[in-house]
Amino acid sequence: MAAQALSERDLAFMLYELFDAESLTKRPRYADHSRETFDAAIETGKTVALKHFLPIRQQVDINEPTFDGERVHLLPEIKPALDAVIEAGLAAPATDFEDGGMQLPLIVTNAVQAHLWAAASTTFGYISLTNANANLIEAHGSPEQVEKWVKPMREGRFMGTMAMTEPGAGSGLADLTTTATRESDGSYRITGNKIFISGGDHELSDNIVHLVLARVKDAPKGVKGISLFIVPKFLVNEDGSNGERNDVALAGLFHKMGGRGQTSTALSFGEKDGAVGYLVGEENRGLMYMFHMMNEARIMVGTGAALTALTGYQYSLDYARERPQGRLLANKDPESSPINIIEHPDVRRMLLTQKAYAEGAYALCLYGSQLADDEKTAETEEERAHAHTLLDFLTPIIKSWPSEYGPQANSLAIQVMGGHGYINEHPVEMFYRDNRLNPIHEGTTGIQSLDLLGRKVPMNKFAGYRAVLAEMQQTIEQARDSELSLFAADLQAALEELQQTTSAVLGATAEKNTDLVFSNSVSYLEMFGHVVIAWIWLRQGLAADAGLQRNPHAEDEHFYRGKLQAMQYFFRSELPKIYHWSKLVREIDSTSFDMQPEWF
Ligand SMILES: Cc1cc2nc3c(=O)[nH]c(=O)nc-3n(C[C@H](O)[C@H](O)[C@H](O)COP(=O)(O)OP(=O)(O)OC[C@H]3O[C@@H](n4cnc5c(N)ncnc54)[C@H](O)[C@@H]3O)c2cc1C
Repeated sequence: MAAQALSERDLAFMLYELFDAESLTKRPRYADHSRETFDAAIETGKTVALKHFLPIRQQVDINEPTFDGERVHLLPEIKPALDAVIEAGLAAPATDFEDGGMQLPLIVTNAVQAHLWAAASTTFGYISLTNANANLIEAHGSPEQVEKWVKPMREGRFMGTMAMTEPGAGSGLADLTTTATRESDGSYRITGNKIFISGGDHELSDNIVHLVLARVKDAPKGVKGISLFIVPKFLVNEDGSNGERNDVALAGLFHKMGGRGQTSTALSFGEKDGAVGYLVGEENRGLMYMFHMMNEARIMVGTGAALTALTGYQYSLDYARERPQGRLLANKDPESSPINIIEHPDVRRMLLTQKAYAEGAYALCLYGSQLADDEKTAETEEERAHAHTLLDFLTPIIKSWPSEYGPQANSLAIQVMGGHGYINEHPVEMFYRDNRLNPIHEGTTGIQSLDLLGRKVPMNKFAGYRAVLAEMQQTIEQARDSELSLFAADLQAALEELQQTTSAVLGATAEKNTDLVFSNSVSYLEMFGHVVIAWIWLRQGLAADAGLQRNPHAEDEHFYRGKLQAMQYFFRSELPKIYHWSKLVREIDSTSFDMQPEWF
């Protein structure tokens, strides 16, 4: 069952037919690459995933990490699996050749790691967090910090974390209380407690580099008084070797619903003399620096959610093709053999919904990676700035849409398999549990919706909002005179509804209570997300239609027809939901706002 977790045909379609990743080889940074080198890297990712991660996918879940008071114990197979990723150069394939990387475009890196994400489930989090940590220090740290911390992380000797959350400060980081005291040697002493820190302790690497948000004594209150520190598990000597243990202690591990491939830790900083920390950049600008990592992590969360949804879809699809049960309504002959469940229209509905959610979500994440490439390497300054504007605007949607609809897809994978999906003999119930974290961490869906409506939409005189609408309009023009003109018209109508809703809700802020106006912000996010995914599906539809025009062989023809059918499903069954959300938002429906805590 399910020899591999992802469809390679689909990955190639998205990469080359939808997003034309091959054209990136014309850019100087990627001039040494070709489709062959891209494919070779993807193949290596798949080989490592199938050899090292797929066999332990469920073991990792069943044997969750334990702490004996001194050491963390993990399933022993995790370390060789992660080492295999590092040795194959797959931990950070986008880094420069001279730093030991493959200098691959980010969209290709996303595809290279896709098989690993899909097979490794949450174990891959050790690698991706380390990468994001190193990228932050590279962007905002001093050259000495890059040399001391980034280099060993790139080599796979150190791993990294992101230590923001505290018992009293989760969504509201403004209230964090971990403190930093300046020392005469320029370093700081950090004291405080962090919770839920992923990968916060283990023995998978020589050292762990925590990036810790803390408040320097006498700093202003709120987010303007937050600074960022590098706080290692072990201090590091001049020659790069590990020195004494820093004053960072593991207070305990959390036992989670899913995501057991990675430790979740409570960390105490400075129980003795204060943990030694090194300031990144300037004091009081820590949250701004942390956004470098958070934005990357948000795209990572969306990608992980989409890939977990794709994996569940693939698994339940393979199952549905082989599981005989029942007969079609039209067949009254009890002597006839049962049919495979994929023959039942309702099972096909559930598979099609999963396909529409999962492939829509992953295509959106790949688009995010493409924008991240363009932001860095597009030819002109104007193109780079444009990509930045689009990505910045879309980040809350790339984070939250896959996170919300990925678990729904996984729930349908369970449903497709009936009772067999609910038991842990098959991994789909684990996919659901793993994926259920994604709407929570890296900013909950509620927080993302406030970011979108309250900040991203009006930001820079609506620049990001207008840029995204213009991109969608361009696709509509392209599709207007094609076979897909009816879908183009549907998207046009949806776009107009979205614009009217946006004007109505933001217009209301002038005269109404802000909390009331924003009380339906999640409906606004749902609406915007569905319009964006419909657009992404129309783009997939256009690429599939182009594929069909090339008279493909039978297998490819099936593939393209499947794409068009999933697009149609999204437009018929999902896009109309926006009119319901729009009504709530534009009419400033006050039902939730008016509900009094005492009335519950
Ligand atoms: C498995 C796991 C891994 C994690 N990994 C990390 C990590 O590596 N590093 C790290 O720093 N943190 C990590 N986190 C923490 C995670 O980011 C937080 O749990 C998350 O930000 C929510 O904070 P909270 O749990 O305190 O919930 P709360 O902030 O208490 O939120 C509870 C509810 O209230 C809502 N809410 C809160 N404030 C508002 C508001 N202003 N407006 C509207 N609604 C609001 C939220 O949307 C949510 O529904 C992890 C968490 C988990 C469970």
